[in-house]
Amino acid sequence: MGYKHFEEYNIKVTEDVKQRYERIIEDLGEDITRDGLLKTPERASKAMQFLTQGYSQDATEILKSAMFKESYNEMVIVKDIEVYSLCEHHILPFFGKAHIAYIPNGQIVGLSKLPRIVDVFARRLQVQERLTQQILDCINETLKPQGVAVVIEASHMCMMMRGVQKQNSVTTTSGFRGQFEKIETRNEFLKLISNKFS
Ligand SMILES: [Zn+2]
Repeated sequence: MGYKHFEEYNIKVTEDVKQRYERIIEDLGEDITRDGLLKTPERASKAMQFLTQGYSQDATEILKSAMFKESYNEMVIVKDIEVYSLCEHHILPFFGKAHIAYIPNGQIVGLSKLPRIVDVFARRLQVQERLTQQILDCINETLKPQGVAVVIEASHMCMMMRGVQKQNSVTTTSGFRGQFEKIETRNEFLKLISNKFS
């Protein structure tokens, strides 16, 4: 299950969404026959399909495709995973970094799969809180580790562009399961992902 390629867009969906974008652009007061806008509805239609392709992907399957028996039982951390998602309240981007850690319980997962499942859940209409929770639950239920932790730090364009709050504010969400519910383990993880460490 890879990323969507240009030729894989559903023709009917592409056409339907394109026609709706034409209406939206007109309703906003633009001239859709203007040169620069001629192909915009189609491009926007494909862009939105790309950015929401997570609906048709299965994060559990992605993890299962690369799980290995292994006796390693120390903390595994993948930090600074790029996150690009769309806030479901305004359909505007929010973006930032995710940090994931888990403590194996007889099984490890291919490290490249963690950024992949971040994408699967991020490429939907989302709120940062649910995105954090879904990544956490997926790893916890599939890999059944001794513990799992997810921290996401993100900037929201709906706040930044509309000047609702401080322009440079970053929203942090986190979730902890198993061993990470213990304060020492959680603190060790938070220390390891903090900027001082990088
Ligand atoms: Zn928003």
